[in-house]
Amino acid sequence: SKVRIYNLARDLGVDNGKMLEILDGLGVSYKSVSSTIEDDTVDLIKQILEEEAAGGPAQAPTSTPAAEPVQASAPQAQAETQAQAASQSAPTATVERMPEPAPTASPARELPHRAPVVTIMGHVDHGKTSLLDYIRKTKVAAKEAGGITQHVGAFEARTSKGRVVFIDTPGHEAFTTIRARGANVADIAIIVIAADDSLMPQTREAIAHAQAAKVPMIVAINKIDLPQADPERVKTDLTSLNLVPEEYGGDLIVVPVSARTGEGVEDLLEYISLTAELEDLRADPGGEFRGVVIESRVDRQAGVLATVMVQEGTLHVGDFLVVGEGYGKIKALTDTNGGRIKDAGPSTPVQVLGFSENPSSGETVRSAKNEHQAREVVAGRVGDRRDAEEARGRRRLSLEEMMGPLGETRTVNVILRADTQGSLEAIQGILAKKETDDVKINVLLAGIGSPTEGDVLLASTAEATILCFSVTAAGGVKKIAEQKGIELKSFRIIYELIDEVDRLIKGNVEPVF
Ligand code: GDP
Repeated sequence: SKVRIYNLARDLGVDNGKMLEILDGLGVSYKSVSSTIEDDTVDLIKQILEEEAAGGPAQAPTSTPAAEPVQASAPQAQAETQAQAASQSAPTATVERMPEPAPTASPARELPHRAPVVTIMGHVDHGKTSLLDYIRKTKVAAKEAGGITQHVGAFEARTSKGRVVFIDTPGHEAFTTIRARGANVADIAIIVIAADDSLMPQTREAIAHAQAAKVPMIVAINKIDLPQADPERVKTDLTSLNLVPEEYGGDLIVVPVSARTGEGVEDLLEYISLTAELEDLRADPGGEFRGVVIESRVDRQAGVLATVMVQEGTLHVGDFLVVGEGYGKIKALTDTNGGRIKDAGPSTPVQVLGFSENPSSGETVRSAKNEHQAREVVAGRVGDRRDAEEARGRRRLSLEEMMGPLGETRTVNVILRADTQGSLEAIQGILAKKETDDVKINVLLAGIGSPTEGDVLLASTAEATILCFSVTAAGGVKKIAEQKGIELKSFRIIYELIDEVDRLIKGNVEPVF
């Protein structure tokens, strides 16, 4: 099977530029980041990245120890702050954990399942925070929740079907900043829609983000306790976005809930587990460690406290971690309930004490065997960055280079912004007529008002162009677009905007040799 370059880059957590550099280095030819490459090449790329992460080609690939269930130990959760917890030596008492399905003795490639990581998105005031609060209150064991639960960016709920990890920053900001750095943290997105308000601008944005990231969605229709709740209207409105609820014959799971009374929340959790099962989420607790920073802050006493989501492998106190161009040794690990633990396996959010610098959300975390290796990896990264900066100075990806491969339907991704719903609809109507068998125009998002930073992040994930009609971008947004190499253009006349789309379509038609 073949894989597209940008998909591979995303899966491996590197940017497209880096991927092209490696391909150049290997002498592999490609037309654009949407070109496909062969399995053999993919293996080579993985090897190169592993060597880089391990500090250079001299390193032999490390053998993977057999997967073993992660033993978690922690003190009783007490009303102590994270900072205090971190500066005391921890007594150990075993805390019950939801048993992860044990690794089986079947073929080595049968990796153990891991818990799903869920993010909640939706329009402001539709009940994201309330829903998270309800789940936290009812599904995090009281004993553990008893302490002053600090917001650390994630929490673990125990359900009858197993552990479910929730990203605790509602809204798509967290989702997009993490994704903008190439990391995929969420396995499932819950789109919350208030039953008395139906689809609103940020609902559409949230849906667009989940779709661009190809993260499965579950819709929670919230506030069904209200007398004016109209869940049927929400379902009809979803259908108009081509999202067809199951009961209307589509495949979108829609669950009516009330974050106030708790009605339906159990069903929602069931559907999360069901979706996770279908996604067949697995990870190797014994594999090489890989994680992503969810959020990070500096505590005046303790120092940097970063919440890291373990994606692969297992973290242990004492490990060396490399993040960005810094590294640190893990002094302490704290679970999301404030309990000290010694190690953390896949799909576990864990607060790490020991980073020397404050990492950004979305940064990838790797481990190193010792300080020497950690330093080497950092030095390698500094070198790579300088090389990449130089390379960027020399060449920029042209639109033509972004073109799709021959013989396939190509897609022009656009984000539309306009001053009114009327002009948005007019533009979309014209664009729909411009589609041909060869070129599809995919409107990722059509929104009223100026483009936002979120739009730029979405455009960078999906490789889209942002086209504005009668609205302009704020200076800050323009700057980010420039930094990320995203085309962002404003027009005052609809037909000039359409001309631009024509140009994009033509740019996408490759000469046939
Ligand atoms: P967010 O902005 O999406 O995080 O929304 P919030 O969770 O802050 O909720 C906004 C408002 O809606 C608050 O006043 C909540 O009390 C209220 N709310 C949230 N969920 C429900 C619900 O299920 N039923 C009712 N009646 N009100 C709710």
